[in-house]
Amino acid sequence: MNLHLLPIGDLDGGLLGKLAPALAEIFRVPCTVAHRCLNPEFAYHRERQQYYSSEILQAMQSHVSPDCWRLLGVTAVDLYIPILTFVFGEAQIGGPCGLVSAYRLRQEFYGLPHDPEILRVRILKEAVHEIGHTLDLSHCDDYQCAMAPSHAVEWIDLKEHALCDSCRARVFVD
Ligand SMILES: [Zn+2]
Ligand SMILES: [Zn+2]
Repeated sequence: MNLHLLPIGDLDGGLLGKLAPALAEIFRVPCTVAHRCLNPEFAYHRERQQYYSSEILQAMQSHVSPDCWRLLGVTAVDLYIPILTFVFGEAQIGGPCGLVSAYRLRQEFYGLPHDPEILRVRILKEAVHEIGHTLDLSHCDDYQCAMAPSHAVEWIDLKEHALCDSCRARVFVD
């Protein structure tokens, strides 16, 4: 069983190339990047000028192949759900699909110079977080744990890309 990464719309290919080996190590599964991508235009809502993440998650379902352990979509577009201004990502609790957006993880979004390393680390943390939700993990009180909730990018920067011991124990039965 593999962890599959699916580009949602146009995405800098280098991002997924770096993300795949890091996630493979953390979740101890082979991780592959899909060659095709999913065009998210169907989920664009003009009144919000954003993409409805739950609609993308639903469409990802048809990209889940039999050898797929979890499917993580990664997108450059801005995601929302109706009750929130934006979301960094969303996941199906218990699986199989999760989704993360790089849009608000870029330093440029905050008027700062492009920093590929900061972007890489933030995407990794959010990817671990959403995959954690697909593994039935809920939010964690340990602010350094990848499962800590993040409503602003500063919170993401405070946490680690790793799961805390208690979250790890729930995912891995060693
Ligand atoms: Zn969460
Ligand atoms: Zn935790």
